Amino acid sequence: MVAAQSGAIVEATELRRTYHLGEPVHALDGVSLSLPRGSFTAVMGPSGSGKSTLMNLLGCLDTPDDGEVTVGGQTISGLSDAKRAKLRGTEIGFVFQTFNLMPRLTAAENVTLPLVFNDDVDVGRRERAETLLERVGLGDRLDHAPNELSGGQRQRVAIARALVNEPSLVLADEPTGNLDTETGDEIMDLFGELNNSGRTILMVTHERHVAERADRIVHLVDGQIQEVEQL
Ligand code: ADP
Ligand code: MG
Repeated sequence: MVAAQSGAIVEATELRRTYHLGEPVHALDGVSLSLPRGSFTAVMGPSGSGKSTLMNLLGCLDTPDDGEVTVGGQTISGLSDAKRAKLRGTEIGFVFQTFNLMPRLTAAENVTLPLVFNDDVDVGRRERAETLLERVGLGDRLDHAPNELSGGQRQRVAIARALVNEPSLVLADEPTGNLDTETGDEIMDLFGELNNSGRTILMVTHERHVAERADRIVHLVDGQIQEVEQL
């Protein structure tokens, strides 16, 4: 697997995605975006403007009707489903608004769940979970179930899980949307640290003060980029 070591980690050109559920909805209508390695980009826009659709396409969770996505120099449309799943599992970490933890698994088990995509790791799972949970400030919560944790702690577990395969790219869709302001700010401090340690971050948010942690804000309106605001 050949990955470019510099330049952009993600290149998207002229992405289009139309949903056919009754009247066609042009969720993305010609979006081109490049994510330089180590950059921190926020995406803002009204509800329904295509933010989540864009994240799903860049994260290889969905495929465009038209246009192209490359991740680490690999063109997604040319890959088999298995190779795409492997790329997604090893290169990209996801964080969602609703945390999406498995309720019956402990924090540590949730963190190591994505290792199923990584054949190289079959030992040291517990140690890996411990290191990551310590890093997000939850070193004393390894064996807690999600319902024994606060919202902010659950999101920290989700961030640790997103990091378990050491992805170069972290995609976060409204990660502070379900958190109070203070807890959200703490989560944003964590994203800032991740970015400072070299990870590329793309984050959807409704909140201006959250978006201002990024290097730039991409404003989406009706499935198109209206403005890219440098900060
Ligand atoms: P945002 O995240 O900015 O709120 P989305 O990307 O979720 O926007 O949605 C963009 C548009 O596409 C909306 O009109 C939404 O209703 C529609 N849409 C999103 N996902 C689907 C889907 N799976 N099926 C049908 N329509 C969808
Ligand atoms: Mg959304």
